[in-house]
Amino acid sequence: MASKQILIIEDEPEIAALQKTNLQRANFDAEIAGDGKSAFLSIKKTKPVLILLDLMLPDMSGLDICKKLKAQSDTSDIPIIVVSALGDESDIVSGLELGATDYVTKPFSPKVLLARVRAVLRRQESKSTNNIISLFGGDLVIDNDKHKVVCDGSVTHLTTTEYGILYYLARRPGFVRTREQIAQSTHGESSGFPSRTIDVHVTSLRKKLGTLASVVETVRGVGYRLNEADNQCE
Ligand code: CA
Repeated sequence: MASKQILIIEDEPEIAALQKTNLQRANFDAEIAGDGKSAFLSIKKTKPVLILLDLMLPDMSGLDICKKLKAQSDTSDIPIIVVSALGDESDIVSGLELGATDYVTKPFSPKVLLARVRAVLRRQESKSTNNIISLFGGDLVIDNDKHKVVCDGSVTHLTTTEYGILYYLARRPGFVRTREQIAQSTHGESSGFPSRTIDVHVTSLRKKLGTLASVVETVRGVGYRLNEADNQCE
């Protein structure tokens, strides 16, 4: 199998080199772009399968790069992992809302970075159109045709919003979604549904999930994710 090209957009040479070595050891091909301009040239030339994106770059912001890539049809499918300094939650939230798939905070452990890269690529390959989602060894089954949730063997009755939240998170287990994204998915983009009330619905959803309550995980300052069992082993 040809190795997969990953583009590292990062202006700090040491961090970029660390990421590159890491990826190469795991048999990925990696290229470094130190600013936005060279990043766009490199994307055109190499068509990377994934981008690691630093947010503070000398010539433009990583968020602008993200926005641009997601707006162009030939690059909109390339998954982006935002690599951001710990504590920059609002940038992470903006990145996710602009279409980034995931994020890693600096300083990152090489192991975590690789795990996130692999998880993103795996999801990309298995973009399922399956209407039945089965997770946690069948303990949680969501049938989206019937809007039915079976939790630990018995049917769980959820409100439309609770169901919407669970289904939205379950479509991409392990990946964080912001409150705004969740609100838009359950109520539509222009509904004005207040994203703050998502917390209330999540609390109620967790109660109904009983023994599986903890699978809906709060990611402080960012949003929620469905804690995927096989992600925990990575
Ligand atoms: Ca930087």
